[in-house]
Amino acid sequence: MAAVYTKTVEIVEVSPRDGLQNEKVEVSTAEKLELISKAIDAGVRRIEVTSFVNPRAVPQMADADAVCERLPERDDVTFIGLVMNQRGADRALATGRIDQLGAVCVATDTFAMRNQGQTSDGSVEAAKAIIETAKAAGKTAQATIAASFGCPFEGEVSEARVIEMAKAVAEAGPVEIALADTIGVGNPAHVTRLIEGVRDAVGNVPIRMHFHNTRGTGLANVWAAIEAGASTIDASIGGLGGCPFAPGAAGNVATEDVAYMLERAGINTGLSLSKLIDTNAWLSPIMGKDLPAMVAKSGGFPAPQSEKKELA
Ligand code: ZN
Repeated sequence: MAAVYTKTVEIVEVSPRDGLQNEKVEVSTAEKLELISKAIDAGVRRIEVTSFVNPRAVPQMADADAVCERLPERDDVTFIGLVMNQRGADRALATGRIDQLGAVCVATDTFAMRNQGQTSDGSVEAAKAIIETAKAAGKTAQATIAASFGCPFEGEVSEARVIEMAKAVAEAGPVEIALADTIGVGNPAHVTRLIEGVRDAVGNVPIRMHFHNTRGTGLANVWAAIEAGASTIDASIGGLGGCPFAPGAAGNVATEDVAYMLERAGINTGLSLSKLIDTNAWLSPIMGKDLPAMVAKSGGFPAPQSEKKELA
């Protein structure tokens, strides 16, 4: 079977939200804004800047309004705010700075209850309502199906269930449907099957994929997703990330690792690898640890020795 992937893949930067939400270190609003600016400077044009959730549940996102107030004025960048319910949607829209709402529904009842206090079916209805709210306000919305590849509480997740959810959510008119491997249990064959099933169900709605590298399958899953026709990949600078409601969940696939792999494979991401690596070097001391990304440690593809001398 010939690969069907395109020559351009969009990377949505999720470090300011998914990357930070599970971290113990308190990251200041100013530091979050600097991270956002550095990501934009590295070429990111769509970025998940925060989530509008209960600050008692996710203290790291308590400054959502303050972050939005000081977002850079950029017409060419789409700022995404994650919301779980109508109240979150209203808060996000009230900032006047969020271009796109991120709605989340969850593939299992147990995880849906823990994550947002409702059943899986209830989360689908909530996501549809959020998409409608965004559209009514002249904005767009993306939708993510969390725990699409496995649930920390219920284990296996039915592919038919995920496909059924994608079809239901697509009816509300999101800009895309994302399948999220929230706890990093997916494998490339599963990715291919699920994308093919969802694509058959949602027609032309673009597919975004969200992977965590918890078990080292992140990049393999990204590649399988692109071959299966996914147009957008979520990634986090440094490979930061985790979910406060999913025990054992580790970092997102790292933006610099994904960008390196795709660019070397001839797929354009619009990102500057050296600026991503610089951002990792800036972020690592703030987080007080080495970040999981590999390419930031090794550097990009080596330049010939002669060139290195000229540069020195
Ligand atoms: Zn995630």
